[in-house]
Amino acid sequence: MFKGKVAVVTGSTSGIGLAYARAFAKEGANIVINGLGDAAAIETERARIETDFGVKCLYSPANMLKPEEIEGMVKLAETELGSCDILVNNAGIQHVSPIEEFPIDKWNMIIAINLSAAFFAMRAAIPGMKARKWGRIINTASAHALVASPFKSAYVSAKHGIAGLTKTAALETAQFGITVNAICPGYVWTPLVEKQIPDTAKARGISEEEVKKNVILAAQPTKEFVTVEEVAAYAVFLASDNARSITGSMQSIDGGWTAE
Ligand code: NAD
Repeated sequence: MFKGKVAVVTGSTSGIGLAYARAFAKEGANIVINGLGDAAAIETERARIETDFGVKCLYSPANMLKPEEIEGMVKLAETELGSCDILVNNAGIQHVSPIEEFPIDKWNMIIAINLSAAFFAMRAAIPGMKARKWGRIINTASAHALVASPFKSAYVSAKHGIAGLTKTAALETAQFGITVNAICPGYVWTPLVEKQIPDTAKARGISEEEVKKNVILAAQPTKEFVTVEEVAAYAVFLASDNARSITGSMQSIDGGWTAE
């Protein structure tokens, strides 16, 4: 479906991002992966995308805290692979604590990585998309772009911000063959969710098992985690020609969470 196109996926060394990268590669797109982690493990994933799907896959080490590196990641796609046609803003981190104890550096990092990085990547990618009259921007928001949970002030603020950024960018690009949408997953079992369990247990004064059962899956009427493959398949649809009239939208994939 995406032969000849290039997809840049931020935060794709793990979790949902890696599933996006593999799903776009499966459809023939050349890929730029990005994210933190062990260099050898990242190289293994990068090479696996090339051998599994017969596409080119480059790794950009851009740190989403640094605007100039984010711009460099888009430039890498344009100079080495020819374009940045599909931009998936996905890198994200979480921190769980009451507002009065929330570390200031964590607030700043979450706003920078989960919100500002998407702005810097769009700012760099939109001129090329406009010139080619085709582009797809997909932002991984969250159910927390639509509703809140206690003890996640920075994350909920950043994700509500992504909703506003998505709508604004959609309006600015609507007549250039570009769509901009946000996917709003509920709980997906990834390292990001696994890592917040101990702090959530502490903040709520309950055991880690109770967090999983009574906090996390309690939010989801299906009582099941969403899978990374389901989220990635949704992104592939949003990038397809059949989705060309879907723009500025928040797409829930949350097992019914935000219906309650
Ligand atoms: P994850 O921890 O598996 O992946 C996060 C990715 O972001 C990793 O590749 C990591 O290296 C990268 N990253 C973190 N800081 C970075 C930085 N400074 N520079 C570059 N890359 C950086 O988590 P995930 O669950 O796959 O999360 C992906 C996205 O999905 C996030 O935006 C998250 O908020 C969102 N999301 C996750 C869930 C869930 O339940 N897992 C639900 C809704 C939304």
